[in-house]
Amino acid sequence: MNKSYGILVVLAGPSGAGKTTLAHHLVDTFHSAMFSVSTTTRSLRGSEVDGADYFFGSREEFEKRIEGGYFLEWAEVHGHLYGTSAEWASGQLAAGRSVILDIDVQGALQVKAVFPESVLIFILPASPEVLGDRLINRSTDDSAIILERMKAAAWETGWIGAFDYFIRNDRLEDSVKQVETILQAERNRLVNMPFPNEAMIFEPDSFIGRDYWKNRRIIVTSGPTREPLDEVRFISNRSSGLMGSSMAEAFRDAGSDVLFVTGPACNNSPPGVNTVHIKTASDMLAVLSREVEKADLLVMAAAVSDFKPTSYIHGKMERSGGCDLHMEATPDILATLGKTVENMCPVLAFALEFGEDGEEKALKKMRRKGACAVFLNRGDVSGIGMEATGNEGMIIFEDGSSLTIHRCSKRYAAELVVAAMGRYMKKRTVGE
Ligand code: ADP
Ligand code: 5GP
Repeated sequence: MNKSYGILVVLAGPSGAGKTTLAHHLVDTFHSAMFSVSTTTRSLRGSEVDGADYFFGSREEFEKRIEGGYFLEWAEVHGHLYGTSAEWASGQLAAGRSVILDIDVQGALQVKAVFPESVLIFILPASPEVLGDRLINRSTDDSAIILERMKAAAWETGWIGAFDYFIRNDRLEDSVKQVETILQAERNRLVNMPFPNEAMIFEPDSFIGRDYWKNRRIIVTSGPTREPLDEVRFISNRSSGLMGSSMAEAFRDAGSDVLFVTGPACNNSPPGVNTVHIKTASDMLAVLSREVEKADLLVMAAAVSDFKPTSYIHGKMERSGGCDLHMEATPDILATLGKTVENMCPVLAFALEFGEDGEEKALKKMRRKGACAVFLNRGDVSGIGMEATGNEGMIIFEDGSSLTIHRCSKRYAAELVVAAMGRYMKKRTVGE
């Protein structure tokens, strides 16, 4: 029930900085942490073992694998190719195991682009002199190679700003403690385990209802829509898409099959959900018209623009002379679906309200839109709602019952909404 994903930890930094040493300490300390054995085209050296230190193979085979999409990331380092198996890493993460990558900076950046929640740790040597000594003492390479690695170290260190953490690997005992502390802290982040069993014991009422969503089909809309004025400008709403992506993740983790329909937003591609990218309110309506009849719930978390310019100008409007902007209403998505779709699924609406009478306005909105529940959040309280990482509010149901959600991360708020909504749907089904 408590599905937790493993953490993807990347140790990168100059060759000889101590990545491999620290990676093996992590694997020895955390029994659920796995070392990722890379594939490489360089030849085996010293006491290395094929399958334990690396999978050694030919360049030809490696290139075939690149084409086949085998690698999560790959890079050419010091004239050889190195890469991480995508299937192995995602399999471990899905099974709740943390994965430790000991890779170069180019690879680390690729991992962050694919898995933004991965944790990048840059391992710095105590000083260039210490790095030189370590490379010499490791005595696996000749002096020309050591010189090349020292030059590469300067280049790699230039990328430290793209990392989440750094460790200056001076005294090994201190570095080991630091890397363990980072992994432990990441494991305790609520975003990585948003549904801790401990919270369930204290808030049982809020959490009952999650099971209802197993194998159900949910559509979550998210982000703003953009209504173009010309090829450069548009009318839009303030929205990061974080509440929508959090809702999609929470339904995914409850076992639902999620279709995520998102406008252009920062948080627009949660792993493990089917994503459709749209731009305008009309695009969103077109996708929903095809999909809602197959769904068990439509979650309207998107900040759909209510207005659009009446005309569209090709190219870019001139600045001089100003511009008279004429706008019209965009299609009311729920009202249109209500009229045009035969078997409309239940709807969870979202209402962003200003002022103290928000509850009344949200209730009216729920009834007007034919929704069976509404999540009310305030637009005039700082630190929550639009473009914020946190939220608070209330989920109100058509029978008048409600659940107050105290200030928390959007991911946690989404868990509470999923659970409360499931509890309500169970009750509603029994009552029918
Ligand atoms: P990398 O994987 O970054 O290339 P290694 O972990 O192989 O680096 O470390 C390079 C060498 O330095 C190894 O011989 C290792 O035992 C040694 N080493 C690593 N960290 C320290 C440290 N803090 N103090 C002294 N020696 C270290
Ligand atoms: P070495 O040949 O000394 O073991 O490793 C050389 C460099 O390649 C190191 O910086 C190491 O971290 C990096 N490396 C090892 N495996 C991978 C991998 O799978 N991907 C990438 N991008 N780099 C790797």
